Amino acid sequence: MTDHIISVKNLYHTYQSGPLQKAALLDITMEIERGSCAAIIGITGSGKSTLVQHFNGLLRPTSGTVAVDGVNVQARGGDLKVLRQRVGMLFQFPEAQLFEHTVYADVAFGPRRLKLSKREVRTRVLQALETVGLPPHTYAQRSPFELSGGQRRRVALAGVLAMLPKILVLDEPTTGLDADGRTEFYYYLQRVQQKDGVTVILVSHDMSEVATLADQLFVLHNGRLVMQGTPRAIFGQGNILHQWGLTEPPLSELLIQLHKQGLAIPLDVFTLEEALHALQEIETTRHEKENV
Ligand code: ADP
Repeated sequence: MTDHIISVKNLYHTYQSGPLQKAALLDITMEIERGSCAAIIGITGSGKSTLVQHFNGLLRPTSGTVAVDGVNVQARGGDLKVLRQRVGMLFQFPEAQLFEHTVYADVAFGPRRLKLSKREVRTRVLQALETVGLPPHTYAQRSPFELSGGQRRRVALAGVLAMLPKILVLDEPTTGLDADGRTEFYYYLQRVQQKDGVTVILVSHDMSEVATLADQLFVLHNGRLVMQGTPRAIFGQGNILHQWGLTEPPLSELLIQLHKQGLAIPLDVFTLEEALHALQEIETTRHEKENV
């Protein structure tokens, strides 16, 4: 039986700013499986941020329901507090919010506010730093401002992990990082998902990123959920995302072009390894035919 950590039913959200109303989400129904990585994709203004802000009660539905790990987000008081602890949010450029003198103090900031014992805070901070690949003996006492951009972002991630979230929501997590910083960030993110069983929700418009990381894609357009499926199912349908203003990962685009030109390459291939394998097979078949 599938275990849905998030269930959204007929969710509408309308922003009210003075006399103006802006319908940002319209009739969204979706489910996210526990322990999976889900990506919410869509062009700017499609409703991605509005949707994920419902997952920890930052926004309330105008109508419809959102249940997160058994808690209804319309809850108030105690339940809302529980919800905020269960759902860690990492917004864009989170390193801008690092302000303590040491990496340790920054990661400890959240757990300290939970009034945990000093020992418990310490355990959480050390574990979180290990998880994001910043060994405490080297990094804990350093200033976050001496670190590289990618390392600073991982300090911010450690700060969220130290709250022991069950769900991690990341809004465009690798924007502004160089290629190495991005690869490292993905590596540690996947580790969090696999090692700690955290459900990861990624808001992104980088199709290569979601092709590598996500188990399930949810495509938003003008506040509506217009498509959902695995990356394989969606990217395997050719240029289907163009109608929503999105483009396939560069690799998929290349394969679509080759396919159009008559190369018998399957279109549901979207990782480099699979593409190499498929091309090798084509080459072997051609070779065999030539030698008959
Ligand atoms: P995305 O994250 O996909 O860029 P958003 O959820 O930020 O989209 O925005 C969805 C729509 O809601 C957009 O039209 C945006 O202008 C509007 N919107 C977002 N935040 C507010 C707000 N605080 N007040 C009014 N309208 C908003």
